[in-house]
Amino acid sequence: MKKPFIAGNWKMHNTISGSVSLANEIRRGAGDYEDVEIVVCPVFTALASVADVLSGSNIALGAQNLFWEEKGAFTGEVSAPMLKDAGCKYVIVGHSERRKYFGETDEGVNKKIKAALRFGLLPIMCVGETLEQRNSGKALEVVSAQIKGGLSGIIGEDMAKIVVAYEPVWAIGTGVNATPQQAEEVHRYIREILEGLFTTGISREAVILYGGSVKPNNIASLIQEKDIDGALVGGASLKADAFLEIVKKAAESV
Ligand code: PEP
Repeated sequence: MKKPFIAGNWKMHNTISGSVSLANEIRRGAGDYEDVEIVVCPVFTALASVADVLSGSNIALGAQNLFWEEKGAFTGEVSAPMLKDAGCKYVIVGHSERRKYFGETDEGVNKKIKAALRFGLLPIMCVGETLEQRNSGKALEVVSAQIKGGLSGIIGEDMAKIVVAYEPVWAIGTGVNATPQQAEEVHRYIREILEGLFTTGISREAVILYGGSVKPNNIASLIQEKDIDGALVGGASLKADAFLEIVKKAAESV
């Protein structure tokens, strides 16, 4: 039985002290939820300090991005071993904001996933269609291309270390979440793709999160869907009480 999985993407919010306060508040409330995989993803500058706060707790640390090279003349970039060194277990790869503002491609996402795995980080790979793509009936096609491109050359053994997050772009930060039925349709489809790429067992065991305006009042109906294993939460992860409420609802879903 998979644990429900709730990850908070803090995006470009909070200084070191703000991140430490938020992490402390979440830590204080999270102890009751050992059966949920809880992850927080602060900005790079706050990673090491938040790692200290989370040490010995049931909350894991994640980064929001990485570069695929290990080290070298890549001004402004941060590598997988550096994130490991800062205390990260997870790293978000291919978030739609990175695809939109920083030109990330499926090929780049694929290189980043491989780099993360090579250095023992667990990637959270984001996929999802824009509103225009959905309205023109292309949602599944877009997600399929992103999954196949991102996972190109990945072996089954490594798929067990990768979390997939379906995040329809039109639902991110808009307050309009996908309905449980809309999300479930895509999650089921992602599982079919994984079955084709790997095996039925790997597809069934894969952790597939939904992301896009997840709040305390909609997580229960989303996570009760068969193929939705948890959530990647943006805005609502910046308030400890809202994030903990989402974790609590996820814990109650099993
Ligand atoms: C996200 O950025 O991954 C996200 C899902 O944001 P929000 O929850 O604010 O829609």
